[in-house]
Amino acid sequence: MADTFEHRSAQELAAGYKMSHRVAEIIAMVTYATLAGIMYYHLVPVAGTRPITFVIGALAGYFAADFVSGFVHWFCDTWGSVEWPVVGPVFIRTFREHHVDPDSITRHDFVETNGASCMAVLPAVLPGALFRPDPSSTLQVLLAGAIATFCALIPFTTQTHKWAHMKIDEVSLLGRFLIKSGILLNHDEHDRHHHAPFTVGYCITSGRCNKLLDRVGFWRIAERVITRVTGAIPREDDIGRRAAERIAAE
Ligand SMILES: [Zn+2]
Ligand SMILES: [Zn+2]
Repeated sequence: MADTFEHRSAQELAAGYKMSHRVAEIIAMVTYATLAGIMYYHLVPVAGTRPITFVIGALAGYFAADFVSGFVHWFCDTWGSVEWPVVGPVFIRTFREHHVDPDSITRHDFVETNGASCMAVLPAVLPGALFRPDPSSTLQVLLAGAIATFCALIPFTTQTHKWAHMKIDEVSLLGRFLIKSGILLNHDEHDRHHHAPFTVGYCITSGRCNKLLDRVGFWRIAERVITRVTGAIPREDDIGRRAAERIAAE
């Protein structure tokens, strides 16, 4: 395996995880924890005053988080390259590495697993921390519920993805409960993404949006639109997919 294209690629991509990324991830995690603390301090009392409205909003946030996880995953699998500034090494690299060596995610520690996702959710959690919902406004309570679940799930999307790659009895008790109860992504749902044609099942938080999006051909429609507008070719630089196809053919 040492000299194969797949192994070299996996090593090269894994080596792209620099100390500077790790420091940025730790700063993002601390920033997220601080802002989320402020945010939930103001959102939780609203849930107590209008629980049903809040839960409806929370459900919308639950599905929105899954869709956004799929959108980011699809984008990083489909467009651009690891050479792109900032987005390339921090986000695209991790998804490409994942297709070259799907089990590598199970070896990542807490920071490498969750740092980039904490970074990605900052544009949502920052306004969330400044939001003071008025309990008499149905729209604001719905929004409060949606923000509460969205900002709780997105930072741990890679954690749910990691759990979907682990044997269920190796997952923590909390994770096992969330997977078995159907709240978070399970192994079988995610496994479809790692088999030919490697272009379905992008959503990795709960996986609840996958069937609908795949059935209506959402990602292929989005790819055609982007190709028409920009001229870019989907998966033109997809080192991960090529490697996965080679592995599958062996
Ligand atoms: Zn993928
Ligand atoms: Zn995966």
